[in-house]
Amino acid sequence: MSIATVNPATGKLLEQFEAMTPDEVQAAISRAAETFLSYREVSFGRRAAMLVKAAAILEGRQNELGTLITTEMGKPIGAARVEVAKCGMVCRYYAEHGERYLADEKVESDASESYIRYQPLGIILAVMPWNFPFWQVFRFAAPALMAGNVALLKHASNVPQCALAIDRVFREAGFPWGVFQTLLVGSQAVSDIIKDPRIRAVTLTGSEGAGRSVASTAGANIKKAVLELGGSDPFIVMPSADLEEAVKIGTKARIVNNGQSCIAAKRFIVHRDVASRFESMMTRHFAALVTGDPMDEKTDVGPLATPQIAEELERQVRDSVQRGARLVMGGKRIQGEGNYFEPTILADIPEDAPAAAEETFGPVASLFVVDSVGEAIRLANATSYGLGSSVWTNDKGERKAFIDGIDAGQVFVNAMVASDPRLPFGGVKHSGFGRELGRDGIREFVNVKTVWIQEGAPNRKSSAD
Ligand code: NAP
Repeated sequence: MSIATVNPATGKLLEQFEAMTPDEVQAAISRAAETFLSYREVSFGRRAAMLVKAAAILEGRQNELGTLITTEMGKPIGAARVEVAKCGMVCRYYAEHGERYLADEKVESDASESYIRYQPLGIILAVMPWNFPFWQVFRFAAPALMAGNVALLKHASNVPQCALAIDRVFREAGFPWGVFQTLLVGSQAVSDIIKDPRIRAVTLTGSEGAGRSVASTAGANIKKAVLELGGSDPFIVMPSADLEEAVKIGTKARIVNNGQSCIAAKRFIVHRDVASRFESMMTRHFAALVTGDPMDEKTDVGPLATPQIAEELERQVRDSVQRGARLVMGGKRIQGEGNYFEPTILADIPEDAPAAAEETFGPVASLFVVDSVGEAIRLANATSYGLGSSVWTNDKGERKAFIDGIDAGQVFVNAMVASDPRLPFGGVKHSGFGRELGRDGIREFVNVKTVWIQEGAPNRKSSAD
């Protein structure tokens, strides 16, 4: 894949970039390694001040940076600006809380004194996707840099200008050169970078295939990895729910980011008592969506990021219908320039059809009907993914059953799944491992060091390891 900006709304190539040479990559790694030695000594207060400066830069440039996001990957401009502002939030969050999350922790033991110290690991490689090209990077980088690590970013090949703009934000915020560097390289360069002994850990947000590849190389080289992969989130609606609200939020949760979000609601699992009303209400909501130019403030659904994503989505819908699914509305690409896809609803979907078993990355809602809480949980868990889940019920017993029973990294009750700097974010099963955000996020890329201090005669009870 060439490193280039291609506007998804028009298909026009706007700018192409040369990939960095292996020597240039080596120079960047050396710079990072050298910078780490001094950056790890920089106080939390100074790191926090630079993060606050980064936040101010982001907040002041929402329009400019939002326009860049929309130009490179096609999300509606309003959402792009919100994404930039959210990056400011995560910088401020870790500036405020990072030091406390990494403060020494006393632990009572047989030692005169024992405690846990959290120390940075060194260079962390971040392999990132295009779908939230700012947010995915900042939610990794803000805690990693606050902890004293340095970062190398290999961004998706279709968002090079976002990658370079992020690099500039950190530099302008005062982070020394070498603390955060963008590597303009293709995915084939990643494995050699991970193998470099100076790289201490890797984080990848992306597809399952990329996750397997990155985790295998990290494993073979005994390096820490965090994987944030795909999802096929269930959105469960029970009869006690506020149906109007569930349909409204469900529609939003499906079409967020033009349907290309890991935590978009993808499978709507609805109790039989409200299923036909839910289907007709959702059809009305989908029919009212405005699909078009993502630079237009009125647009709800912009183009998909690449023609390949649109083709793949069309294949998934076609195969699902061939296997017996009912096409309620939509179902195909919109003719003309740009990668536009009709808002689509599928129902009566066999469990082995792509719309049930695979992640659909676009504005396609899959509807399923169930008769009980148990059946809803079984269906919710019947994919290889386990990222987010949203359940709509006002029954306390049902809530408990869903919270306990759904295999996912997060359960939202009567709300759509969203990441929040204050709470951990991540998945189970093939959605990945490790956590970002919250206290857990900043503790992913640190050495959890045990310190044991003995004064006078040893009084340790056991010497077994
Ligand atoms: P992708 O193709 O896996 O790309 C993601 C990143 O990985 C890009 O930088 C890509 O580089 C790189 N990459 C691809 N194959 C690689 C390989 N074999 N080895 C090393 N690096 C590789 O994913 P995508 O299509 O851009 O993103 C969509 C996927 O990301 C969806 O499955 C979505 O659910 C998931 N996602 C998950 C989360 C989460 O938090 N769990 C958040 C957002 C997205 P190139 O661009 O150069 O190929």
